[in-house]
Amino acid sequence: MIKSISVLLITILFFGCEIDKPKLSLNVKKKERKAKNIIIMIADGCGYNHIEATNYYTNGELNSQVYESFPVIFPVCTSPAISGKFKSEKGLNWQNGYNSGLTYSDSLWRTLSPTGSGAAATAIASGRKTYNASIGMDIYFQPLKSIAEKAKELGKSAGLVTTVPFAHATPASFAAHNVHRDNYEEIAREMIKSNMDIIFGCGHPDYDDDGIKTEAPDYQYVGGKEFWGKFTSGKNYDRRLITKQSEFEKLLLNPTNEKLLGLPLVHTTLQAGRGGDVNAVPNKVPFVKAIPNLKLLTKTALSSLNQNPKGFFLMVEGGAVDWSAHSNYSGRMIEELNSFNKAVESVVKWIETNSSWDETLLIVTSDHETGYLTGLNGFNSNISSKGKGKLPNMMWNSKQHTNVLIPLYAKGVGSDLFDDYADELDSLRGYFIQNSEIGQIMFRTIVK
Ligand SMILES: [Zn+2]
Repeated sequence: MIKSISVLLITILFFGCEIDKPKLSLNVKKKERKAKNIIIMIADGCGYNHIEATNYYTNGELNSQVYESFPVIFPVCTSPAISGKFKSEKGLNWQNGYNSGLTYSDSLWRTLSPTGSGAAATAIASGRKTYNASIGMDIYFQPLKSIAEKAKELGKSAGLVTTVPFAHATPASFAAHNVHRDNYEEIAREMIKSNMDIIFGCGHPDYDDDGIKTEAPDYQYVGGKEFWGKFTSGKNYDRRLITKQSEFEKLLLNPTNEKLLGLPLVHTTLQAGRGGDVNAVPNKVPFVKAIPNLKLLTKTALSSLNQNPKGFFLMVEGGAVDWSAHSNYSGRMIEELNSFNKAVESVVKWIETNSSWDETLLIVTSDHETGYLTGLNGFNSNISSKGKGKLPNMMWNSKQHTNVLIPLYAKGVGSDLFDDYADELDSLRGYFIQNSEIGQIMFRTIVK
């Protein structure tokens, strides 16, 4: 049909209208899609149902998050380029991708060949799908340029913020290049030495997950004992270390151009890994005191990144949504997603106060679903509410990732581009995009 229309048009253009040639497109101004700033917020392990569960608990109703009323909303396919182990004697083992039919007819299919956070974050950061466990590397083990690195090339600032160790897969994929995500020491060293302006996240070697000083320091997330000794001596690297909540608060009001490493005084999570009853309802177990939350880390990062008149790129990760989902801890998952949601609210407010939707693109998404979360009546059933402040009727069906579609919400300059990329159809959720296309759109939109 489209083809026959173009043939007709061409016929008219060349043969039919010698005198009044239609001025095709000449007067149509191309839509400007020039992002000075790009902010992407990733709730790791978060599917549609995690958002529903959190909405029911915190607000008693669906669609109560600020991003759920963004103008652009699409499902995302998270499949990696390759499933399983990245090296095999038979060569590369290609994964089949998403299958809409099987997703809703075969309860086991959703658990097959899901992505890992490294492959997903690399796809988002670089625009290219890769193998599981990759950190910023393609399927031939060659480094891929990330959108954060591209921002630096353009003279912008770049920042990475997370609630889990900064050397973990999601933030690492924006600033490091390693064949395997488990090489934390190498990855941490590469990140600390990188040109990223801001790196805020966990991994402090001297504290445990309750914020208590430990007798047995664990240096794996900060580059190893020797490197950490050199770094903290303050002489060898041009990056300042801040750790206390008061330092983050001070920095929020007195932004800087210095390169920073923000490492709160906890080991692997801000709050999700703290002691107490892991099956308690949200907010019942006291939080670790004097630890900055994701909202404070994000606001502090924004205030310093915004010192650069050329703009910035910022990635914010709610990393422990995934960790709580792996453990099937409903209360903690809701706490973590709620904390992420508050960070998103603060970013929206920041854009509307300090920037505008004409110069900033905000993307809120996930990297994959974790825990195979459903309602109580089978794998296609919805979560149902028991009212605000009550854990909804929900069920975990796995402790691993699944391959289901996850949501993406976008607003601001360039966000209309997602519509062009959404060309594959899911029978329930409609047209969807590939995770790598998020990166492609960011690369297309960011400008000097
Ligand atoms: Zn995970």
